[in-house]
Amino acid sequence: MSSQIPAPDRVPKVALVGRPNVGKSTLFNRLLRSRKAITDPTPGVTRDPIEADWVVEGHPVKLVDTGGYKTKGDDLDAKVTAKSIAKAKEADLILLILDLMELTAEDEEFVRLLRPMSDKVVVILNKADGLERESLMGEFYSLGFSEYLCVSAAHNRRIDELEELIVARLKFSDTVVEDAQPDIKMAILGKPNAGKSTLVNRLTGLDLSIVSPEPGTTRDPVEGRFEYKGTSFRVLDTAGIRRRAKVGEDIEYYSVNRALKTIELSDVVVLLIDAVEGLSDQDKKIAYQIVKDGRGVILGMNKWDLLPKVKNQLEAYTDRVRFLFPVLDFAPVVPISAQDNTGIPELLSTVVKVNRQLHQRVETSKLNEMLKIWMEDIPTAQVRGVIYKIRYLTQVSAMPVKFVAFGNHGRDTPESLTKYIVNKIRKDLGFQDVPLELNVKGGQER
Ligand code: GDP
Repeated sequence: MSSQIPAPDRVPKVALVGRPNVGKSTLFNRLLRSRKAITDPTPGVTRDPIEADWVVEGHPVKLVDTGGYKTKGDDLDAKVTAKSIAKAKEADLILLILDLMELTAEDEEFVRLLRPMSDKVVVILNKADGLERESLMGEFYSLGFSEYLCVSAAHNRRIDELEELIVARLKFSDTVVEDAQPDIKMAILGKPNAGKSTLVNRLTGLDLSIVSPEPGTTRDPVEGRFEYKGTSFRVLDTAGIRRRAKVGEDIEYYSVNRALKTIELSDVVVLLIDAVEGLSDQDKKIAYQIVKDGRGVILGMNKWDLLPKVKNQLEAYTDRVRFLFPVLDFAPVVPISAQDNTGIPELLSTVVKVNRQLHQRVETSKLNEMLKIWMEDIPTAQVRGVIYKIRYLTQVSAMPVKFVAFGNHGRDTPESLTKYIVNKIRKDLGFQDVPLELNVKGGQER
C-alpha cells in the first residue's frame, strides 16, 4: 500500500469531465458524500471548475469538477471547452462521464479532444440504474478507450468499484514516492519441525533463530529481509507457530490463531511441509484460510533429500497432494531441501511469479473482449431448456483476486459455466497460480 502514497508536495488530481446533465455534479457529490457542488438540471449552464479535497481509501486526492463542456448550436463552445480540457491536462486521472442512455455528437467531438490524453482517461457510463442497462455499454467501446465502468451516481450503484478503480489507477501514475518495487511480504508457515527456521536462515543468511531437532524449541520471533535477483523480500514473523505454548495453552489453537494474523499481513505464504510426513490437518486449516484471504500460497515440500529417489517423484507427489486437497489445486508445489540448500532459487522465482499474478489487474475492456471469444467457443449453456449467458465481466480487486460477472440468471448460473470462465481467466489472462474468486450477479436483481 505504501507505493500508492503520493509525494507530500503533490496530491494527485482526478478531473471529472462531461457535458451538462450527464450527472457529473451528482457523481462529484456522491464521491465526496456531501452536497458541496450545486446540481443544476438546466443543460448548458456554465459553472466554474470546483476543486475539493477528497480522501479515497485513505489517500488524499484533489477532485475537480470541471464545469463541463458546453455546446453552441451543434458545436462545442470553444472557450468553455478549452477550460475543461485545460483542467483535464493538469489531472493525473480523467473521468469522462457519459450518459449510458445517450451518446451525443458533442460527446464524440469532445472525445476527439481528449484523444491525446487517452491513457489517463476512464470512461464512466452514468445512469446505469439497473443491471439491464449495463448491456448498453458495448456500444461505447468504439470510442477506443481502455477502461469503462457503469455506475449510477443517483442510485449509488458501483461507486465502491469506481473508488477502487481510482485508487488502482493512481498507483500507476507518477505521483508515488517510491519508484522501487515494494518488498514482497512472504511468510513461512508450517508445523513445528517442518524446517521453517532452517529455511529462514538460508534465505536471510543470518542465524536468526535457534534450530533444534526438538519440536517447539525456537523461542524468539523471526523477521528478516533479503534480496534475490533485484527483488526485496520481507519474511514475516513465523515464530508464533513455533513458540512453546504456555502451560495449559492449547498448542494447536494458539498456533492456528497466530498463523491467521500472519496470513493477513502477507502477500505470499510458503506453506512448508515435511515431505516425509505429508500434509497435516493443521496445514489444511491454514491453507483454507490462505485461500479465503486470497493470498498466494506455495507448497514448499521440505526435506526432499530424505525421500527415496524414484522416477517422477514430484509428479506423483503433486498428484497425491492435489487429490487429497483439491482446495489447493492451483498452488505450485516446489520440492526443496532447506538443509542441503537445494530448490531455493526455484522457490523464490515461484514466490515472485505468484506475487505478480496476485497484484495484476486486467482492464475491463480487455476482459469483455475475451469474454466474447470465450462465450463463442462454447456451445450454448443450456440446462432443462434454460439458456445461461454471461454478458459482462469485471475485475473488482487484486489480492484478493476477485471478478464479478453479470449473467442472465445471476447466482443460478450452473457451476459448469462459472468453472469454464474461471479456467479461461486463469489460462488466458495469467492467473494460474493464485486463488481466484468469481461471483455471478444479475438475473433476479432486475
Ligand atoms: P521449524 O520448527 O519449522 O522451524 O523447523 P527447524 O528449522 O527447527 O528444523 C527442524 C529439524 O529439521 C532440524 O533438525 C533441521 O536440521 C531439520 N531440517 C530442516 N530442513 C531440512 C531438510 O531440508 N532436510 C533434512 N533432512 N532435514 C531438515
